[in-house]
Amino acid sequence: MERSPAARNLRFAVIGAGMSGILSAIKLREAGYDDFTVYEKADRLGGTWRENTYPGISCDVPSHLYSYSFEPNPDWSQRFSPGAEIQAYFEGVARRRGVMSRIRFGDEVTRLEFANGRWTLETKSGHRDEVDVVIAATGVLHHPKLPDLAGQDDFEGALFHSARWDHSVKLDGARVGVVGTGSSAVQIVGAIVDRVAKLSLFQRTAQWIMPQENPRYSEAERAEFRKHPELVTKLHEDMAVLFSAFSNGLVDANSPQMKAIEDACLANLEQNVRDPVLREKLRPSYKAACKRLVMSDCFYRAVQQPQAEVVTEGIERVEAKGVRTRDGRLHELDVLVLATGFRVDRFLRPIRVVGRDGIELEQVWEKRPSAYLSISIPGFPNLFMLNGPNGPVGNFSLIEVAELQLGYVLQLVSRLRAGCREICPSEEATVQLELDRTEAAKHTIWGSGCRSWYLDDRGVPMSWPWTFDRFRAEMSAPKLEAWEQKG
Ligand SMILES: Cc1cc2nc3c(=O)[nH]c(=O)nc-3n(C[C@H](O)[C@H](O)[C@H](O)COP(=O)(O)OP(=O)(O)OC[C@H]3O[C@@H](n4cnc5c(N)ncnc54)[C@H](O)[C@@H]3O)c2cc1C
Repeated sequence: MERSPAARNLRFAVIGAGMSGILSAIKLREAGYDDFTVYEKADRLGGTWRENTYPGISCDVPSHLYSYSFEPNPDWSQRFSPGAEIQAYFEGVARRRGVMSRIRFGDEVTRLEFANGRWTLETKSGHRDEVDVVIAATGVLHHPKLPDLAGQDDFEGALFHSARWDHSVKLDGARVGVVGTGSSAVQIVGAIVDRVAKLSLFQRTAQWIMPQENPRYSEAERAEFRKHPELVTKLHEDMAVLFSAFSNGLVDANSPQMKAIEDACLANLEQNVRDPVLREKLRPSYKAACKRLVMSDCFYRAVQQPQAEVVTEGIERVEAKGVRTRDGRLHELDVLVLATGFRVDRFLRPIRVVGRDGIELEQVWEKRPSAYLSISIPGFPNLFMLNGPNGPVGNFSLIEVAELQLGYVLQLVSRLRAGCREICPSEEATVQLELDRTEAAKHTIWGSGCRSWYLDDRGVPMSWPWTFDRFRAEMSAPKLEAWEQKG
């Protein structure tokens, strides 16, 4: 991209080398910004797909949609590909696009402070950097949420969170307990049931299960995709349209799309769970898609195996030999997996972020995190988040979300390049948008009466509450009246 002679040279820090950080590095370069470092605390890129290696992990968005729009992949093995393949995809993209050498691995950003139009960044190792712009690509499902189970330390077997899978632990012939019924738990149960001696699924809330076929792409199909990349691009586009229709329906709890999903889930339960007692245990008491919709073609088969049990009695405590439920029963176990999800209110935290005039992010977000359009916070100029608070986090591709957000951010950055020194959203625009968002969120499917990780401390869904088409339109160009520019 050509620069005008007056253009400022800008230095950037990208925090995180997951899907969003890799995307940022690629797009910064494409836009002509070459002065940047990607900071990654781990020794490998990939974020979610590096950390979640549990048996059965896969995408639940079709792989041809869960790909960068500019990096179609003809080689996806299945409609919903396994996690290791997704990790390899991100590593391949980063290598091909020259991102690897731009990543500073193994160094966690611990502090950001804004003064005189620039951010000073500090890392755990004591390294310092001064940059004009920070892109925080620190993830949303990144900090494991651990349940507060009494007696956990007494357990004599192996106990770990699903995002910290201990591959040294033997599963074959073992007695395994899984706590939780979200997407990870459902994938784990389906993948391990045939290997274990006993599987106890500790269920607090039943889940609607959307049937999901996962056919493999044949070698002939993949060869065709390789020969005609336009077919892969077309698949991506067609799936994006399909998912838009789905996500447009999510924002109206009574939409025909939600009814169709509930009908499909209900038929799945009625037709595929034979035992009426088990069927009732597995029947949710809220609308389908109120919690993040779980997709599976093997979960119901798995829980009907003789070695499997769905335990609905609450957990009293963990003991040396297993889990004791409130009815006094001891479920003897060798392995206990906590598939209990993530803390979804963290975002950049625990980085200590000090904005203009010494304002601390921890204070601003004391009650709950929020940001103008999920991207930026008043008082914290030139700091942009990807997949930040209250963004579109339903069952669709977060890659598409991040691509749209980054396109928006780059338009703001072009104003910095043109000479403006500080840009951040106005307090007024942010407060108004948050009021409108909160009101609209109550009418979405996530606000239709269930307990889920979508809800904040007030019970308001922490999500983009309007259609995905509206999100796309909003991301196409910043409304500059909402942005304060200085210098
Ligand atoms: C089990 C699971 C399944 C999922 N399935 C889907 C799916 O089917 N479809 C979908 O769209 N999404 C899915 N997601 C969401 C997934 O997180 C996103 O799609 C995507 O991978 C997020 O990428 P990211 O780069 O924004 O964040 P992450 O992948 O979380 O990466 C953040 C990176 O930032 C680094 N980092 C964080 N803080 C610091 C710091 N202070 N200093 C340095 N580095 C830091 C982390 O180490 C990490 O590498 C899933 C998530 C999980 C956990």
